[in-house]
Amino acid sequence: MSLRVNPDLKRELQKFGLSEWNECFHCGNCTAICPLTEQGFLFPRKGIRAMQMGLKDNLAKHVDPWLCYYCGECSETCPRDANPGELMMTLRRYLTSIYDWTGLSKKFYTSKFWEFGFILFLALLVIVLFYIFLPLSPNAAQMVNASGGVMINSLVDGVSPEQFIRIIELGDWTMAIIVASLLISNILNMFYKVIVSDKSVTIPFYAYFTEAWRLIYNFVTQAKFSKCDNRFYWVGHLLVMTGYSIMFAVVVVFLPDFQTEEIKEWWHWQRLLGYYATFGILFFLTYVTISRIRKKELKTKFSHPTDWLFIIMLGLTTITGILVHIFRINGMVTATYYTYVIHMAVLVPMIMIEVPFSKWSHLAYRPFAVYFANLKKASASEKYKTQLAPAIG
Ligand code: SF4
Ligand code: SF4
Repeated sequence: MSLRVNPDLKRELQKFGLSEWNECFHCGNCTAICPLTEQGFLFPRKGIRAMQMGLKDNLAKHVDPWLCYYCGECSETCPRDANPGELMMTLRRYLTSIYDWTGLSKKFYTSKFWEFGFILFLALLVIVLFYIFLPLSPNAAQMVNASGGVMINSLVDGVSPEQFIRIIELGDWTMAIIVASLLISNILNMFYKVIVSDKSVTIPFYAYFTEAWRLIYNFVTQAKFSKCDNRFYWVGHLLVMTGYSIMFAVVVVFLPDFQTEEIKEWWHWQRLLGYYATFGILFFLTYVTISRIRKKELKTKFSHPTDWLFIIMLGLTTITGILVHIFRINGMVTATYYTYVIHMAVLVPMIMIEVPFSKWSHLAYRPFAVYFANLKKASASEKYKTQLAPAIG
């Protein structure tokens, strides 16, 4: 097998946040201390070596960076301050851009002009669409229900509440289909790079089915993260992941049940779900914002611009969502309408950029990486059974 060395790899990775790259002298301490590394997937040292040697094609086959949950234990104990945890984070950004066939991920990670330009474009598009198709009615002030809450679906002249919901739903589904198509095609590209193009593995057909449950299991539980010494990270991650997934499901799939004219009592499932999701997201946002500002832990010392952008966009989406709720229950019609428009103008670019091209794509890549890693393990054990075991006797 020939290995192609790419001397530009280091320069390329620097655009994704790489700072220290040559400090590592391969003592293996990080691999020994990492609670998640295991036989066959020895990270982070292996990835660092491939990076230092400029093995670009080899890196694309690695799933290791996704198996790291960035608990930071390796960085705290590295004798050379090479910050291996951050190196893995850099590799995750890089791999996200490698899987993305459109090339947009690379542009968003490496160019502020592209990232801010795209956000601004989508935000303006949402505002213009509201202005043209769903403008606030001059008579909207009367649109409050018996309990004094704003009837949010009845604020536009000539559009019934059912039509209003259907129009918003159409927009949500269009966005969801675009995002899902991009993400699925990128996962297929990941599959090609990790499994198909790796000629050293032959996956037994049954393994595709027997290992599939791990995909769902790892997505829902993030169980590997719980192996890190500090389980607080896992709880925080689980809270934000479930909160975000609930909000996504509610907004896209169950919008007619959620955005009703009648404002339910606080104990109604609809509101309790919303409160849980808001709490989960706010808890996570508060923690990461404070720790990134204080920079006390090594894992928060360096922040890529896209880390901050993600925090800001998620924060703005959550705050505007909370404000819409407060304005609604207090019967503030104009404030409800305009905050709702701003909420959508932040939400849409956040989902369109973060889910298929940036930070949130790890929600899909991680469970698939675990799945692919287990497929590779199944291939190795099959090889042992058919070739080595009989020879050893
Ligand atoms: S990153 Fe640090 S701990 Fe890991 S092998 Fe290199 S020098 Fe050792
Ligand atoms: S950051 Fe944590 S999970 Fe990732 S390689 Fe280091 S010790 Fe392992």
